[in-house]
Amino acid sequence: MKEKQQNILIIGAGLCGSLLALRLGQRGHKVSVYEMRPDLRQVDISAGRSINLAFSDRGNKAMKLVGLEDKVKALCIPMNGRMIHDKQGNTFQSNYSGRDYEYINSISRGELNALLLDEAEKHKNVNIHFNKKCKSVDFEKTTALFKDYNSKDEFIEDADIIIATDGAGSAMRKSYYLGKKFLFSFSQAYLTHGYKELSILPKENGDYKIHKNALHIWPRGNYMLIALPNLDGSFTVTLFLSYDEGEYNFNNLTNEKIVLEFFQNEFPDALAVMPNLLDDFFENPTAPLGTIKCSPWHYKGNTLLMGDAAHAIVPFYGQGMNASFEDVVEFDSILDKNLDDWEATFKAYENTRKKDTDAIADLAIDNFYEMKGHVNQVVFQEKRKLEMALEKEFPNAYSSKYSLVTFNEDIGYREAMLRGRAQDKAILNLLTDGVLNLDDDLKLTLEKVKKETEAILEDDRIAGLQ
Ligand SMILES: Cc1cc2nc3c(=O)[nH]c(=O)nc-3n(C[C@H](O)[C@H](O)[C@H](O)COP(=O)(O)OP(=O)(O)OC[C@H]3O[C@@H](n4cnc5c(N)ncnc54)[C@H](O)[C@@H]3O)c2cc1C
Repeated sequence: MKEKQQNILIIGAGLCGSLLALRLGQRGHKVSVYEMRPDLRQVDISAGRSINLAFSDRGNKAMKLVGLEDKVKALCIPMNGRMIHDKQGNTFQSNYSGRDYEYINSISRGELNALLLDEAEKHKNVNIHFNKKCKSVDFEKTTALFKDYNSKDEFIEDADIIIATDGAGSAMRKSYYLGKKFLFSFSQAYLTHGYKELSILPKENGDYKIHKNALHIWPRGNYMLIALPNLDGSFTVTLFLSYDEGEYNFNNLTNEKIVLEFFQNEFPDALAVMPNLLDDFFENPTAPLGTIKCSPWHYKGNTLLMGDAAHAIVPFYGQGMNASFEDVVEFDSILDKNLDDWEATFKAYENTRKKDTDAIADLAIDNFYEMKGHVNQVVFQEKRKLEMALEKEFPNAYSSKYSLVTFNEDIGYREAMLRGRAQDKAILNLLTDGVLNLDDDLKLTLEKVKKETEAILEDDRIAGLQ
């Protein structure tokens, strides 16, 4: 396909849609974006879902693509590692990598979304319309039906192609599903846990009440609390808790006494810096967490799903937004191939991309269990110590699973998952069998880990698991 100017309609101006609009605008297309919410740059609304997010190298690769790396950096607070809080209030930091230059960042969803909207709108060929909700998509005619929240009118827009970046509840995905015009597979799996956002406000002088440059975690096995810093000195705190299982759950935390008792017993040091806990707890909603997978992502060469609309994941690897940004990078590289037409382009994109988003969906579930429980276990802590030492000593020869997923943006999530899981298994086997000890010579340790990892990968290949 010789890339000529096309009319492209994007549904949803969240993180993925606004980045996609910017990139397609840069490529010279005529882009119309329809967003159901008001313009978050003008109206004080939450940008939806989490207030802040962990932003890392895959997301940054997308920012480099559109020339925004420096502007985004100014919005970032580096988080070098996890700061684990035990029940007695003791803390210890477990860095994300043995390489000093590898860390993740906390970023405000609203600020980042606003920046992407500003940059997209700098292109005359990009128009963004707010308060217009997509009700359905006719994927055979390539038209979308909208409701204007201001005038209450309904109207239809057509385009050469429609790309839906309207998030986990995508209207276009619903039209695929309900239309029953082609073999559309769809799965949605909820965790039994939901989440609620709380906050740690800044000190009176604006300082942070707990260490600024870390992702704080209070892991308690069946539930956990995490906190990410904001630029104004506050932290956004998220409680992940079962809806109805265990002694404490969202369904029984219904009055002030029991909420205080729960925090006093489980998170006393957090409670000490959260005098606003009860207000937050009873004002803020409890929301579910789920994984959405579907296929195909496109209908012929007319319409395409992207971002959470195609692959929503649980937040425990801090990769949903990063993956959605990476979608745009991958799509852009397929456009560079100048394939015959949009159908070939969409097919090629899905073929290369879906295996990776399936992988990060599964990794995110693994990390749910790791974060709420395993980080407290001795063998897990030994594994982390060993991996830190290997990364520090052999920065070019070893990367943990976390590093492969988070800091190695030039390999896909699937490759990171296969190698990372094999390495995890290798180290845990060697540690529990007493073949590895923390004070062993590191060069020898690296050789043993590599050999065991290769053996596991070979077994996986033979068993057809790759
Ligand atoms: C609690 C929580 C914590 C998270 N933490 C992280 C993290 O640390 N790091 C990370 O990388 N990811 C994180 N994520 C995931 C991240 O939020 C998503 O992956 C990301 O927002 C996906 O972007 P998107 O643009 O595809 O979808 P969304 O951000 O959901 O944007 C969709 C947009 O479409 C609009 N829209 C929806 N329906 C319609 C309609 N019918 N018509 C018109 N417009 C519509 C919405 O208003 C919204 O603006 C987290 C998610 C949650 C829930």
